[in-house]
Amino acid sequence: MESLTAFPPELLAHILSFLSGKELATAAKVCKAFHEASKVDFVWQRCMNREFGVSCAASSLSPREIYTKLLHKYGFLLGTWQIEIKPYGGLVHVKFQNNKLLGLQYGAPHDPHVDWPMMVKELFQVMLDDEGNTIINCLQGPQGPHKGQIPLLNASTARFMSKCCCPDLHRHPQGREQEFLKWCQEEMGVSEEDIMFQHMQELLFMKFMIINQYQFCYVYKRLTMPPHLPEQLIAPGLFKGTYGSHGLEIVLLTYDRHYIHCKKITGDPNVPASELSVLVDTKKPLMLDEEQQVDPTELARVTEQADKEEEEMNGNSASNNQSQEGEACGSGHDVSQQHLPQSQPFAIPEGFRERGINYPKTCKMRFCGTGLIAGHGYTSPSRTPGHFVVFDDDNFGFLWLELRSLSVYSRVTEKMD
Ligand SMILES: [Zn+2]
Repeated sequence: MESLTAFPPELLAHILSFLSGKELATAAKVCKAFHEASKVDFVWQRCMNREFGVSCAASSLSPREIYTKLLHKYGFLLGTWQIEIKPYGGLVHVKFQNNKLLGLQYGAPHDPHVDWPMMVKELFQVMLDDEGNTIINCLQGPQGPHKGQIPLLNASTARFMSKCCCPDLHRHPQGREQEFLKWCQEEMGVSEEDIMFQHMQELLFMKFMIINQYQFCYVYKRLTMPPHLPEQLIAPGLFKGTYGSHGLEIVLLTYDRHYIHCKKITGDPNVPASELSVLVDTKKPLMLDEEQQVDPTELARVTEQADKEEEEMNGNSASNNQSQEGEACGSGHDVSQQHLPQSQPFAIPEGFRERGINYPKTCKMRFCGTGLIAGHGYTSPSRTPGHFVVFDDDNFGFLWLELRSLSVYSRVTEKMD
């Protein structure tokens, strides 16, 4: 050890900068030279950059204090989360900004503007005061930051909880009814006229009440963003999509071998958050001319035919060569653009609800899939046939063949990594 401590302090600091935060804390206790070297700012800067992907801003607190008192304990909050509010869900991203951990809720924009930016709302912050004490604030409600809690219950970093200690501060001074109307307009983009429709009013009021009940104690579940592989048809990630009278909802597009999954991150009383909204079978590509596309009967026929062909193919390959099948399984991602129909016309079938959006006249690809439908309260859920239409890497549609409607989806472009 003597030979190491004989090194110049800056060299010793450089060596220590390769250690993890935990190892650094231990090393600092070994001897005076190590202790001194472990106090050098860049040692901790490097450590937080490596372990949490963040850098701290200049402040009265040292990077060592920010690491040991804030990031060491709460750094696991960084990343993307789903709020567990049944059935609505929610999307939250925690980032490190100005030496604070800031929890932001990302809401879908107003219906039907899937291409608008997400609506961002501050939920909580975790920071240090000048003395280095941890401060946790709830940032909800009209009255600014107030006391909150993030109980660290267990070692799991896959879930956490945030609490508000002053629920009264969430109330708007104008009263409950005004608060409801304001929420409808600002968050749902629904005018007072629209609220007059009985069905709309019930849906909105239920959502308002349930979200209000939860806002003093949220539970979050970690969302892992899948990596984008070059051969994928459309990059995985978060999308905003139209869900009829429920407004816009957020889905996460991922791959599972030759299937594309669109899982709900936000949901509604019919199909709740976390359910698999759209399932696409990329082994069932379709190439349709405009005439076929506008005729709903023809669409149903080609879908059935694609199902039949796929079944026959499966039957053949199973009896033909089992080892080949095994290889395909092992590859993990066998969705590739090879041998798939490319650009083709796109037309909306006659009689389909299309909600006044300007749709492209062509699409990159079209596949058979299924969409999840259910009665209110997620009763009798079933999968119904549909077509998954890729317009470009940031936009796709899903034609609900039996419901005779089209959902459109647009990528969430706000950075959340
Ligand atoms: Zn609060």
